[in-house]
Amino acid sequence: MKPILFWDFDGVIFDSEAQVYQMWHQVMMAKGAEFSLEQFRTIFEGNSWAKFQEYGAGETEQKEYSKLESNRFSIDTPKEEFPLFPFMDEVVNKLSEKYWNYIISNNQRSVIEAFLHHHKMREKFKYISGREDWRPKQEKIIECLEEVDQDPTESWFITDSVGDVEEAHDIKVQSLAVTWGYHELQRLQKSNPTKIVIRPKEILEIL
Ligand SMILES: [Mg+2]
Repeated sequence: MKPILFWDFDGVIFDSEAQVYQMWHQVMMAKGAEFSLEQFRTIFEGNSWAKFQEYGAGETEQKEYSKLESNRFSIDTPKEEFPLFPFMDEVVNKLSEKYWNYIISNNQRSVIEAFLHHHKMREKFKYISGREDWRPKQEKIIECLEEVDQDPTESWFITDSVGDVEEAHDIKVQSLAVTWGYHELQRLQKSNPTKIVIRPKEILEIL
């Protein structure tokens, strides 16, 4: 039985920031609200729902956004629309020899599935939890760990955002922060992750 390794998806595997920001910008503009890239990035610093509301996005905008997103990233969308960070297929592949890879994401499951299908990575992930299950990531991670009796302090969550690092801290799971996603090195450092890497293949030196 292999240990579980937890993965965030957007900003770690899927280079989605430009497209996700563009769609959110479109939704907010339609509402007449400002939405800068910096505001967008603060969404992922924790309590994203409260932040969204503060910026003027309620349930209607969330639904609007999800619709745009699932239209844009379907199984019929060309592969070019699903940029993979360099070497991340190789890194995931290598780690699947040692771990059961689990995705814990706030993206829609259908988008994750379409991405993995295009990059022929689906079978490298044993479990995918997406936005359909709206519970905090830490709750989902704890549930997965309890199921197999795995110690949180010996587990890792790979992520690109401060909010996720803080959730990992809360449940005493080690966090491996990557700097090629939504949050840059300086921002990540402040949240004090267990490890920070700046190149994808460095993950293999830690795990
Ligand atoms: Mg992310």
